[in-house]
Amino acid sequence: MLKDNYDKVAEKISHACERSGRDVKDVTLIAVSKTKPVSMLQEIYDHGCRNFGENKVQELVDKYEVMPKDIQWHMIGHLQRNKVKYIVDKVALIHSVDSLRLAEEISKEALKKNVEVNILIEVNVAMEESKFGTTASETLSLVEEISKLPGICIKGLMTIAPYVENPEENRQYFAQLKQLSVDISAKNIDNVTMDVLSMGMTGDYEVAVSEGATLVRVGTGIFGERHYTE
Ligand SMILES: *Cc1c(COP(=O)(O)O)cnc(C)c1O
Repeated sequence: MLKDNYDKVAEKISHACERSGRDVKDVTLIAVSKTKPVSMLQEIYDHGCRNFGENKVQELVDKYEVMPKDIQWHMIGHLQRNKVKYIVDKVALIHSVDSLRLAEEISKEALKKNVEVNILIEVNVAMEESKFGTTASETLSLVEEISKLPGICIKGLMTIAPYVENPEENRQYFAQLKQLSVDISAKNIDNVTMDVLSMGMTGDYEVAVSEGATLVRVGTGIFGERHYTE
């Protein structure tokens, strides 16, 4: 049952918080529902889940239209500039901003729709070639540039750690993202806070929580394996 899976993940988060002396209220579980039907989302919505993550614009919009309106939608996938207009007024947070050009487009659409868009900067901490995200060394200058744009608000950082058998291997990357957020926070940049750290997926969220994650993105651990049809 999905709600049992959800409870198990929530419980592990809670234990990871206890072990590392953190308050469980500071960690939010995002149910990553990509490829899964609305009926499955509804099942855990009814169980109390209000945070859902999607990685495709069309799928997010389709689900947004039919699901209850008190959901916080998280755009966690790579975002193309020409699709920004469809989601700026629907998402609580865009996790995957990794360029000034993308941020400029978000800012432009935010002004048109008269909304303030919350974003995270995606950092490719592990420097994997296959992944999107800015490099750790470029993050500060990117934050400084984006912070000047109207209609957009930087809330923190996000990373997708490598796929590993042993989650402990990713601890270094989570610790690096946390340190980077502390360093940027110390610069006191206008319009920028570093309170949000989006890190940890099914394979490694407990390690991420112990290193300071405030948002964890769990798909498989709640909904089971994904089956891609295309
Ligand atoms: C799919 C996805 C997840 C969830 O992955 P699981 O391993 O299924 O928990 C988390 N973050 C991002 C950015 C994703 O694309």
